[in-house]
Amino acid sequence: MSKKSKALVLFSGGQDSTTCLAQALHDFPGEVEAVAINYGQRHQIELKQAQIIAKLAKVPFQIIDFPLLSQVTKNSLTHHIPIEHKEGQLPSTFVPGRNLLFLNMAAIIAYEKNIRHIYTGVCQTDYSGYPDCRDNFIKSAEQTLNLAMETQVEIHTPLMFLTKAETILLMQNLGKLDWYQHTHTCYNGKRPACGTCPACILRLKGFKETEIIDPLDYEVQ
Ligand code: ZN
Repeated sequence: MSKKSKALVLFSGGQDSTTCLAQALHDFPGEVEAVAINYGQRHQIELKQAQIIAKLAKVPFQIIDFPLLSQVTKNSLTHHIPIEHKEGQLPSTFVPGRNLLFLNMAAIIAYEKNIRHIYTGVCQTDYSGYPDCRDNFIKSAEQTLNLAMETQVEIHTPLMFLTKAETILLMQNLGKLDWYQHTHTCYNGKRPACGTCPACILRLKGFKETEIIDPLDYEVQ
């Protein structure tokens, strides 16, 4: 089956997936759509922000409801569990199997819509301890999905080996830095962002290294 050069972005409304959206539009102008997954994340605000950014980017956008994940896992993103990262353990914000399920969803949508390229904002450089953000996992998932559906889907991970600072510079080069004001990163689900949770700290550190001002509003920084 021949595939048109279309791209689907796994979009969460966060800084990384927003950068991926800009990159996908650069690579496949006019042929990009975005999908967000509602997996029962406590901060539904990210879905709202995703919608705002997709509108700004003028791409078709859909939200897939997938409540199963929060029924079978307990973590800080789906439940009221304190955010912590104990030595030798995965962080409490880790959602087991999430990226594999998301990629599976994306591949199914891609199959149905005849899309060949999937973009995801995973990154192993500033790796927060998530095994499903690593390059070896993505390569393996790509192979598995293609075997499962007899497709030639390509999973693009433009941020895989970039630092947070390099991701910001990439977005600057793509000319879409202003989209960052609508992104949601804060683990505390705050707008303005709290500025003190691990996600806010990592984001602010990246901006500090580039000397670019983060267009997002913060309570403290
Ligand atoms: Zn925060």
